[in-house]
Amino acid sequence: MAKKSRPCVICANWKMNKTIQEAAEYVEKVLPEVQKTKSTAMIAVPFTAIRPCADLVKDSKLHIGAQNMNDATDGAFTGEIAGRMIKEAGAEFVILGHSERRNIFKETNALINRKIKRALDCKLNVILCIGETKAEHENNQVEHVLKSQLTECLQDVPAELLVSTLILAYEPVWAIGTGLSATPEIAKRAEEICRLVITDLYDSDFQNQLPIIYGGSVNVENASMYLEIDGIDGLLIGNSALDPVSFAKIIALS
Ligand code: PEP
Repeated sequence: MAKKSRPCVICANWKMNKTIQEAAEYVEKVLPEVQKTKSTAMIAVPFTAIRPCADLVKDSKLHIGAQNMNDATDGAFTGEIAGRMIKEAGAEFVILGHSERRNIFKETNALINRKIKRALDCKLNVILCIGETKAEHENNQVEHVLKSQLTECLQDVPAELLVSTLILAYEPVWAIGTGLSATPEIAKRAEEICRLVITDLYDSDFQNQLPIIYGGSVNVENASMYLEIDGIDGLLIGNSALDPVSFAKIIALS
Protein backbone atom coordinates (compact mmCIF):
# COMPACT_ATOMS: atom_id res chain seq x y z
CA MET A 1 0.00 0.00 0.00
CA ALA A 2 1.16 3.56 -0.76
CA LYS A 3 2.73 5.36 2.22
CA LYS A 4 0.28 7.69 3.95
CA SER A 5 0.85 10.67 6.20
CA ARG A 6 -1.96 9.77 8.62
CA PRO A 7 -2.53 6.42 10.37
CA CYS A 8 -5.03 4.09 8.72
CA VAL A 9 -8.40 3.55 10.46
CA ILE A 10 -10.48 0.41 9.87
CA CYS A 11 -13.87 0.49 11.58
CA ALA A 12 -16.64 -2.11 11.58
CA ASN A 13 -20.23 -0.96 12.04
CA TRP A 14 -22.26 -3.93 13.25
CA LYS A 15 -25.57 -2.03 13.16
CA MET A 16 -28.35 -3.99 14.94
CA ASN A 17 -26.51 -7.30 14.82
CA LYS A 18 -24.91 -9.66 17.36
CA THR A 19 -25.88 -10.75 20.83
CA ILE A 20 -23.37 -10.44 23.65
CA GLN A 21 -22.22 -14.00 23.05
CA GLU A 22 -21.88 -13.52 19.29
CA ALA A 23 -20.02 -10.27 19.90
CA ALA A 24 -17.55 -11.95 22.26
CA GLU A 25 -16.87 -14.79 19.82
CA TYR A 26 -16.24 -12.29 17.02
CA VAL A 27 -13.86 -10.15 19.10
CA GLU A 28 -11.84 -13.19 20.14
CA LYS A 29 -11.52 -14.22 16.49
CA VAL A 30 -10.27 -10.83 15.22
CA LEU A 31 -7.97 -9.91 18.13
CA PRO A 32 -4.88 -11.79 16.83
CA GLU A 33 -5.01 -9.91 13.49
CA VAL A 34 -5.68 -6.62 15.25
CA GLN A 35 -2.62 -7.10 17.46
CA LYS A 36 -0.44 -7.43 14.33
CA THR A 37 -1.69 -4.34 12.50
CA LYS A 38 -0.30 -0.82 12.45
CA SER A 39 -3.79 0.47 11.61
CA THR A 40 -6.31 1.64 14.19
CA ALA A 41 -8.99 -1.08 14.39
CA MET A 42 -12.39 -0.14 15.75
CA ILE A 43 -15.79 -1.79 16.13
CA ALA A 44 -19.07 0.07 16.67
CA VAL A 45 -21.17 -2.47 18.55
CA PRO A 46 -24.78 -2.50 19.85
CA PHE A 47 -25.18 -0.86 23.27
CA THR A 48 -25.61 -4.22 25.04
CA ALA A 49 -22.24 -5.43 23.76
CA ILE A 50 -20.18 -2.37 24.76
CA ARG A 51 -19.26 -3.46 28.28
CA PRO A 52 -18.49 -7.12 27.49
CA CYS A 53 -16.48 -6.19 24.37
CA ALA A 54 -14.63 -3.37 26.17
CA ASP A 55 -13.63 -5.88 28.87
CA LEU A 56 -12.38 -8.32 26.23
CA VAL A 57 -10.24 -5.75 24.39
CA LYS A 58 -8.63 -4.30 27.52
CA ASP A 59 -4.85 -4.04 26.94
CA SER A 60 -5.30 -4.80 23.21
CA LYS A 61 -5.23 -2.50 20.17
CA LEU A 62 -8.93 -2.91 19.38
CA HIS A 63 -11.24 0.03 20.13
CA ILE A 64 -14.91 -0.41 20.99
CA GLY A 65 -17.54 2.24 20.38
CA ALA A 66 -21.25 2.89 19.95
CA GLN A 67 -23.38 3.63 16.89
CA ASN A 68 -25.47 6.47 18.31
CA MET A 69 -26.28 8.43 21.45
CA ASN A 70 -28.73 11.11 22.60
CA ASP A 71 -27.74 14.77 22.72
CA ALA A 72 -28.95 15.29 26.31
CA THR A 73 -27.05 14.34 29.46
CA ASP A 74 -30.06 12.54 30.99
CA GLY A 75 -33.81 12.94 31.40
CA ALA A 76 -37.20 11.79 30.17
CA PHE A 77 -36.21 10.33 26.81
CA THR A 78 -37.65 6.84 26.89
CA GLY A 79 -35.55 4.33 25.02
CA GLU A 80 -32.60 6.67 24.49
CA ILE A 81 -29.04 6.42 25.79
CA ALA A 82 -26.70 9.18 26.97
CA GLY A 83 -23.10 9.71 26.00
CA ARG A 84 -21.96 9.44 29.61
CA MET A 85 -23.66 6.02 29.84
CA ILE A 86 -21.87 4.59 26.82
CA LYS A 87 -18.61 6.14 28.00
CA GLU A 88 -19.01 4.49 31.40
CA ALA A 89 -19.82 1.19 29.70
CA GLY A 90 -16.44 1.35 27.94
CA ALA A 91 -17.09 3.05 24.60
CA GLU A 92 -14.16 5.08 23.32
CA PHE A 93 -16.01 6.53 20.35
CA VAL A 94 -19.44 6.96 18.81
CA ILE A 95 -20.64 7.02 15.19
CA LEU A 96 -22.82 10.08 14.59
CA GLY A 97 -24.75 11.13 11.49
CA HIS A 98 -24.94 7.68 9.92
CA SER A 99 -27.32 7.79 6.95
CA GLU A 100 -29.56 5.17 8.57
CA ARG A 101 -29.99 7.54 11.52
CA ARG A 102 -30.59 10.47 9.17
CA ASN A 103 -33.06 8.64 6.91
CA ILE A 104 -34.92 6.22 9.18
CA PHE A 105 -34.83 8.26 12.38
CA LYS A 106 -34.96 11.68 10.68
CA GLU A 107 -31.84 13.06 12.35
CA THR A 108 -30.97 16.54 11.12
CA ASN A 109 -27.58 18.24 10.89
CA ALA A 110 -28.63 20.45 13.82
CA LEU A 111 -29.30 17.41 16.03
CA ILE A 112 -26.06 15.77 14.92
CA ASN A 113 -24.27 19.01 15.83
CA ARG A 114 -25.71 18.84 19.37
CA LYS A 115 -24.76 15.16 19.63
CA ILE A 116 -21.17 15.91 18.55
CA LYS A 117 -20.87 18.58 21.24
CA ARG A 118 -22.28 16.22 23.87
CA ALA A 119 -20.03 13.35 22.77
CA LEU A 120 -16.95 15.57 23.06
CA ASP A 121 -18.14 16.72 26.50
CA CYS A 122 -18.26 13.06 27.46
CA LYS A 123 -14.69 12.51 26.15
CA LEU A 124 -15.92 10.28 23.36
CA ASN A 125 -14.21 10.34 19.96
CA VAL A 126 -16.55 10.85 17.03
CA ILE A 127 -16.87 9.27 13.61
CA LEU A 128 -19.02 11.77 11.71
CA CYS A 129 -20.73 10.28 8.65
CA ILE A 130 -21.65 12.46 5.71
CA GLY A 131 -22.68 11.66 2.15
CA GLU A 132 -25.13 12.37 -0.61
CA THR A 133 -28.21 10.43 -1.71
CA LYS A 134 -28.56 8.87 -5.16
CA ALA A 135 -30.73 11.76 -6.38
CA GLU A 136 -28.27 14.33 -5.05
CA HIS A 137 -25.44 12.43 -6.72
CA GLU A 138 -27.25 12.33 -10.06
CA ASN A 139 -28.10 16.04 -9.80
CA ASN A 140 -24.46 17.06 -9.23
CA GLN A 141 -25.15 18.23 -5.69
CA VAL A 142 -22.31 16.36 -3.99
CA GLU A 143 -20.28 19.46 -3.22
CA HIS A 144 -23.30 21.37 -1.92
CA VAL A 145 -24.46 18.45 0.29
CA LEU A 146 -21.05 17.73 1.79
CA LYS A 147 -20.47 21.41 2.45
CA SER A 148 -23.78 21.92 4.22
CA GLN A 149 -23.50 18.70 6.23
CA LEU A 150 -20.00 19.61 7.40
CA THR A 151 -20.82 23.24 8.10
CA GLU A 152 -24.00 22.48 10.05
CA CYS A 153 -22.75 19.38 11.88
CA LEU A 154 -19.57 21.13 13.02
CA GLN A 155 -21.10 24.53 13.76
CA ASP A 156 -19.47 26.17 16.81
CA VAL A 157 -17.25 23.16 17.49
CA PRO A 158 -13.71 24.52 17.89
CA ALA A 159 -10.79 22.79 16.19
CA GLU A 160 -8.98 22.24 19.48
CA LEU A 161 -11.79 19.91 20.60
CA LEU A 162 -11.66 17.97 17.32
CA VAL A 163 -7.93 17.37 16.97
CA SER A 164 -7.36 13.61 17.44
CA THR A 165 -11.02 13.09 18.34
CA LEU A 166 -12.81 13.46 14.97
CA ILE A 167 -12.78 11.02 12.07
CA LEU A 168 -14.79 11.96 9.01
CA ALA A 169 -16.48 9.13 7.09
CA TYR A 170 -17.57 9.84 3.51
CA GLU A 171 -20.42 7.41 2.98
CA PRO A 172 -22.47 7.99 -0.17
CA VAL A 173 -25.98 6.91 0.82
CA TRP A 174 -26.50 5.07 -2.47
CA ALA A 175 -23.47 2.89 -1.71
CA ILE A 176 -24.44 1.78 1.80
CA GLY A 177 -25.59 -1.81 1.93
CA THR A 178 -26.36 -1.79 -1.80
CA GLY A 179 -23.31 -3.46 -3.31
CA LEU A 180 -22.91 -0.29 -5.43
CA SER A 181 -19.56 0.90 -4.14
CA ALA A 182 -18.25 4.30 -5.25
CA THR A 183 -15.50 4.41 -7.85
CA PRO A 184 -12.11 5.55 -6.54
CA GLU A 185 -12.61 8.77 -8.53
CA ILE A 186 -15.88 9.50 -6.72
CA ALA A 187 -14.34 8.77 -3.31
CA LYS A 188 -11.29 10.90 -4.12
CA ARG A 189 -13.39 13.86 -5.30
CA ALA A 190 -15.49 13.73 -2.13
CA GLU A 191 -12.36 13.57 0.02
CA GLU A 192 -10.98 16.65 -1.78
CA ILE A 193 -14.25 18.53 -1.30
CA CYS A 194 -14.24 17.66 2.42
CA ARG A 195 -10.65 18.83 2.84
CA LEU A 196 -11.43 22.16 1.14
CA VAL A 197 -14.51 22.71 3.31
CA ILE A 198 -12.61 21.77 6.48
CA THR A 199 -9.80 24.15 5.53
CA ASP A 200 -12.39 26.91 5.08
CA LEU A 201 -14.13 26.10 8.37
CA TYR A 202 -10.89 25.68 10.33
CA ASP A 203 -7.46 25.81 8.74
CA SER A 204 -5.11 23.69 6.69
CA ASP A 205 -3.23 22.39 9.76
CA PHE A 206 -6.41 20.88 11.13
CA GLN A 207 -7.39 19.57 7.70
CA ASN A 208 -3.96 17.97 7.36
CA GLN A 209 -4.30 15.90 10.48
CA LEU A 210 -7.98 14.95 9.96
CA PRO A 211 -8.54 11.30 9.02
CA ILE A 212 -11.11 10.89 6.23
CA ILE A 213 -12.31 7.36 5.61
CA TYR A 214 -14.61 5.82 2.99
CA GLY A 215 -17.67 3.64 3.62
CA GLY A 216 -20.17 2.03 1.30
CA SER A 217 -20.22 -1.62 0.19
CA VAL A 218 -16.56 -2.19 1.05
CA ASN A 219 -15.53 -5.84 1.03
CA VAL A 220 -12.41 -8.00 0.99
CA GLU A 221 -12.19 -7.72 -2.81
CA ASN A 222 -12.44 -3.93 -3.16
CA ALA A 223 -10.90 -2.72 0.14
CA SER A 224 -7.37 -2.31 -1.26
CA MET A 225 -8.66 -0.09 -4.05
CA TYR A 226 -9.85 2.48 -1.47
CA LEU A 227 -6.84 2.06 0.80
CA GLU A 228 -4.60 3.00 -2.15
CA ILE A 229 -6.31 6.38 -2.62
CA ASP A 230 -4.14 9.27 -1.55
CA GLY A 231 -6.03 11.25 1.12
CA ILE A 232 -8.36 8.39 2.11
CA ASP A 233 -7.22 7.15 5.50
CA GLY A 234 -9.27 4.02 6.00
CA LEU A 235 -12.65 2.35 5.82
CA LEU A 236 -16.01 2.14 7.58
CA ILE A 237 -17.48 -1.27 6.85
CA GLY A 238 -20.98 -2.58 7.50
CA ASN A 239 -22.13 -5.88 5.99
CA SER A 240 -18.72 -7.35 5.14
CA ALA A 241 -17.45 -6.69 8.64
CA LEU A 242 -20.18 -8.81 10.21
CA ASP A 243 -17.98 -11.78 9.39
CA PRO A 244 -14.85 -11.78 11.60
CA VAL A 245 -12.83 -13.55 8.93
CA SER A 246 -13.61 -10.80 6.37
CA PHE A 247 -12.94 -8.03 8.89
CA ALA A 248 -9.61 -9.62 9.83
CA LYS A 249 -8.68 -9.96 6.13
CA ILE A 250 -9.45 -6.27 5.50
CA ILE A 251 -7.35 -5.30 8.53
CA ALA A 252 -4.52 -7.42 7.15
CA LEU A 253 -4.74 -5.54 3.82
CA SER A 254 -4.43 -2.16 5.54
C1 PEP B 1 -22.20 1.45 6.93
O1 PEP B 1 -23.25 1.05 7.43
O2 PEP B 1 -21.60 2.39 7.44
C2 PEP B 1 -21.72 0.80 5.71
C3 PEP B 1 -20.72 1.31 5.09
O3 PEP B 1 -22.41 -0.33 5.33
P1 PEP B 1 -22.01 -1.32 4.13
O4 PEP B 1 -20.54 -1.61 4.23
O5 PEP B 1 -22.85 -2.53 4.36
O6 PEP B 1 -22.34 -0.62 2.85
